[in-house]
Amino acid sequence: ATPTSIMVGTGKAAENGILFKGGEHLERTHQLEAIVLDKTGTITKGKPEVTDFSGDEETLQLLASAEKGSEHPLAGAIVAYATENDIDFVDVDEFNAIAGHGIEAKMSGKHVLVGNRKLMNDHQIHIEGYEEKLVEFENNGKTAMLIAIDGKYRGIVAVADTIKETAPQAIRELKDLGIEVIMLTGDNERTAQAIAKQVGIDQVIAQVLPEEKADKVKELQSQGKKVAMVGDGVNDAPALVTADIGIAIGTGTEVAIEAADLTILGGELLLIPKAIKISHATIRNIR
Ligand code: ADP
Ligand code: MG
Repeated sequence: ATPTSIMVGTGKAAENGILFKGGEHLERTHQLEAIVLDKTGTITKGKPEVTDFSGDEETLQLLASAEKGSEHPLAGAIVAYATENDIDFVDVDEFNAIAGHGIEAKMSGKHVLVGNRKLMNDHQIHIEGYEEKLVEFENNGKTAMLIAIDGKYRGIVAVADTIKETAPQAIRELKDLGIEVIMLTGDNERTAQAIAKQVGIDQVIAQVLPEEKADKVKELQSQGKKVAMVGDGVNDAPALVTADIGIAIGTGTEVAIEAADLTILGGELLLIPKAIKISHATIRNIR
């Protein structure tokens, strides 16, 4: 590989909004066989909104007050929804984020839990009657969270995030380049499958805990594949480092951008197949 042609290649990439941290990453992009994409903020816009809430006013108040302490995009959606509904927030005495499951908080002498089935099961909250509702939300690609106050089920809130308009085309182009495309998410299987279907991804790895994302990348690598990981979150950073090529979403967190080998401006997914095409053209010129 001549340094000059690599420089021309990374320059061309940069003009297109693909920022490689070094020429060696362009060379490795040429060898990619599989691409793993995070769901929230990578395939979807990462600006979720509350679409459904069922529960009384106190439940919404405690729910939203608890979520104020969370940095998760789901929390932002719930806080915005409560604000729009003129809910008065209460002071939170204790807050605990349970990675991949939800949150726990204490306020007004009450114990509040918000999260997925697993969280409710772990705390022996009975939610049986609500399974049908949960499944319906999930089949529509929504993330549904259950709310329990002092050990009793009190409500359900559903949040939806929309896919990026160009995501289906980007996935199609990747497949046309012979790349295997996989979605990786902490969200539940049903919601993940619904979103995957909208963008044309048929391989989904769901309910992955944040600390397990890198392990999933390693598993793919152990099958002898050269793997890229695409992500935006703090959660994605270890997987971005582990992958042969880490691709950060330009609109994502600083931590993800630091961890990655290249960043795509504006989070435009079409820039991923573009980067691969530029790498192919560059390496072909060298040989
Ligand atoms: P993702 O890959 O979608 O960002 P996470 O691992 O961050 O997934 O979260 C997985 C699941 O944990 C969410 O789908 C949700 O059910 C639950 N969860 C995470 N954070 C919160 C929160 N602040 N409030 C309620 N539930 C949450
Ligand atoms: Mg994300």
